[in-house]
Amino acid sequence: MNVCDSGKILHLFADQDYQLTSDSRSADLIVINTCSVREKPELKLFSALGRYIPLKRRRPELVIAVGGCVAQQWGDKLLERCPGLDVVFGTHQLDSLPQLVAAARLSRKPVSSTDFLARPGGLEVMARPTPAAVSAMVTIMQGCDNFCSYCIVPYVRGREYSRSSDAIIEEVRKLAEAGIKEVMLLGQNVNSYGLKASGEISFAELLGRIQEINGIERIRFTTSHPKDMSDELISAFAALSKLCPYLHLPLQAGSDAVLKRMGRGYTAASYLEKVEKLRRIVPEIALTTDIIVGFPGESEADFLQTLTMLKKVGYDQIYSFKYSVRPGTRAADYDDIVADEEKRDRLARCQALQDEISQAILLAQVGKIAEVLVTGPSKRGASEWSGRTPESRIVNFSAPTKIVVGDLCRVKVIEAYKHSLKGEVVADAGS
Ligand code: SF4
Repeated sequence: MNVCDSGKILHLFADQDYQLTSDSRSADLIVINTCSVREKPELKLFSALGRYIPLKRRRPELVIAVGGCVAQQWGDKLLERCPGLDVVFGTHQLDSLPQLVAAARLSRKPVSSTDFLARPGGLEVMARPTPAAVSAMVTIMQGCDNFCSYCIVPYVRGREYSRSSDAIIEEVRKLAEAGIKEVMLLGQNVNSYGLKASGEISFAELLGRIQEINGIERIRFTTSHPKDMSDELISAFAALSKLCPYLHLPLQAGSDAVLKRMGRGYTAASYLEKVEKLRRIVPEIALTTDIIVGFPGESEADFLQTLTMLKKVGYDQIYSFKYSVRPGTRAADYDDIVADEEKRDRLARCQALQDEISQAILLAQVGKIAEVLVTGPSKRGASEWSGRTPESRIVNFSAPTKIVVGDLCRVKVIEAYKHSLKGEVVADAGS
């Protein structure tokens, strides 16, 4: 979501005739967009400010702005802590950033704006796709009402708010007209889209409306909360041809006791039930997940249940982390802390097991034909192209005929690597 927000910031300033530069010494404006979901975001921010603020000695007109989760948490205090910082803007103030920058420039005084609003500002700003992009992100909702015990998101993004479906459809239509083939719908918990907005359609219905937009070939979404994965949404995977057979479904832990302390609202059995339902109607669906190891109170037996879940579900990939405290969350007050050495060991075992599972899944693709959406030249060299299958697997491939970014190609998989596949074009499916 932060990547999408950064795209929106680019859009806002491009409209004001700013141009992107990779040279911070010649910049008139530096915007740092922060995220505090992972560990030590403040340290990264302070180190970046330590590099950028001294640039103002040579360029006093330089304005430096900080937004995102850390800005939301610190508010005005960030200006006190970092003399030379000009603008602090919260997660609901993204659309006001150009005005805040202009005010700081004019008054030569720092400004800060971090109040939560009834309707988060910035949701209606389009993230500007790069000229050669085939995929674009579209925010459909912001905030979260779940308050999982370890998570800072509800405190820094605010309560759940869904955009109007008409505005979303209009944005996707514009993206399709601009040549975008694939949209990724974003929100902290997309499956609860529309539930708390009176008269709004459900998330599955929204997917159905996007399916009708000419030019859009693929639809993806993230992130889903397992407890809100409705039968209607599961059925959409079978009913909607453009909805990719790929789902990121955060598990976090395989032990019911740990899930309860995390406040996740599901059990390992109910999670598996949803996975089985999904696989009954879309057997080829690829699943990925998030795992936290070493949550307070997690015993070795609890941890082994996480490994059991990895084997039972067979994820394509996992995003796994050692638990780390987020001050201000409920879990920050939990005792029964798991020793860091133990966390490290569990993380290594978790990732080693997942590497085996991921490798087996990639190896099983060899010999199959996949439809690949071409995203650009491969990193391996100019003679190869790169793209993704509907299951979001990366395929690097050679093509004897001319192809362009955005083409959909039929590719035969001939080899599996650790994180990607190698293939060759067998026929162009057109696009
Ligand atoms: S559902 Fe996701 S975003 Fe919401 S509190 Fe839980 S982990 Fe955080």
